[in-house]
Amino acid sequence: MNYKITTIPGDGIGPDIVREGCRVLDAIGKKCGHSFTYTETLAGGAALDATGEPLPKATLDACLASDAVLLGAVGGPKWDVLPGAKRPEKALLGLRAGMNVYANLRPALMFPQLSAACPLKPEIVAKGLDILIVRELTGGIYFGDRGRNDKGDSAWDTEAYSIPEIERVVKIGFDSAMKRSKKLCVVDKANILETSRLWREVTERMKASYPEVELSYMYVDNAAMQLVRNPGQFDVIVTSNMFGDILSDEASQITGSIGMLASASLGDSGPGLYEPIHGSAPDIAGKDIANPLATILTCAMLLRYSLGLGVEACMIETAVERVLDEGWRTADIAGSARDREALADKLVGTKKMGDLVLKAIEAL
Ligand code: NAD
Repeated sequence: MNYKITTIPGDGIGPDIVREGCRVLDAIGKKCGHSFTYTETLAGGAALDATGEPLPKATLDACLASDAVLLGAVGGPKWDVLPGAKRPEKALLGLRAGMNVYANLRPALMFPQLSAACPLKPEIVAKGLDILIVRELTGGIYFGDRGRNDKGDSAWDTEAYSIPEIERVVKIGFDSAMKRSKKLCVVDKANILETSRLWREVTERMKASYPEVELSYMYVDNAAMQLVRNPGQFDVIVTSNMFGDILSDEASQITGSIGMLASASLGDSGPGLYEPIHGSAPDIAGKDIANPLATILTCAMLLRYSLGLGVEACMIETAVERVLDEGWRTADIAGSARDREALADKLVGTKKMGDLVLKAIEAL
């Protein structure tokens, strides 16, 4: 079967890591009898330079006409001086809203081979770390009414959620929990916020359809603390846009490796948007040292969630684990300067890491 993938390499390290992701998809295609047709499009700084717009209409049209979208990262110092509406990051909000991808799935997964990079005490993560954060992505305070009074000395941002908006993302939380350890925690601030109380009412109505799921609620301030105190208690977390933004960054940091973490943004139907969680890393752009594994693992999510190719997704994940088992590391996951020195020829760059994953896929 042939699948249409729109790619958005973006800025900084984006083109290098997306290239490795596509090479891995092609290797899986070759092994399993699928093919992928790529349409490369512009967004972010690259689009601003070429068209004057961070998200050209042609890009959104191509995304909507594809089976899935693979995004590298956008942004960089060159465009930081531009006004808000012309910033590269505008492309991200435009893509999410334009593709109506309302649920952001971010696995915070610590590979045991990289446990030394985890900033928590070893006994806290002795059993590993595997949390899925489901963040509502197109509602809440980031999209609510905002403004300032006439004098400009008072400002407001509004958190608003409708029942359908809550239902659809909480459903993704329950469905994800069913595919994992069947534990779902709704994170909110229901002791203060009316929107949180509505989230709880809606969840309570939905829970009868998921009798096997162990459901809990936690205030967001406590959740932030529990993530570093006892992260093993969580399986799936579902939460609002802003709380999810903050908690998913915290969860990714406790895995210790920003270059390893994938994400998927999904809607009811239509293509999903897939991107590594990290940014465009301008400090290492063009040096062939960026870690491509987050993007490669993002491709596994793309296969699993948008193309229904779960076995092929597992093959990518297994190949990545094999490469790590063999001791290969990019600089970001190689530990201290002394550790890096000790690694000698096992310290590799972007392209070589991609080659190693290809080889591991071929050997499966
Ligand atoms: P960043 O994630 O780009 O970089 C943070 C640090 O992590 C840097 O030291 C970088 O070198 C390192 N890093 C990131 N990805 C890496 C990888 N794959 N391999 C090795 N090291 C890696 O975050 P930042 O520095 O805050 O932002 C840089 C630019 O990226 C900004 O313009 C920001 O707006 C943008 N950004 C874009 C996205 C996105 O497109 N989704 C997300 C976050 C930040």
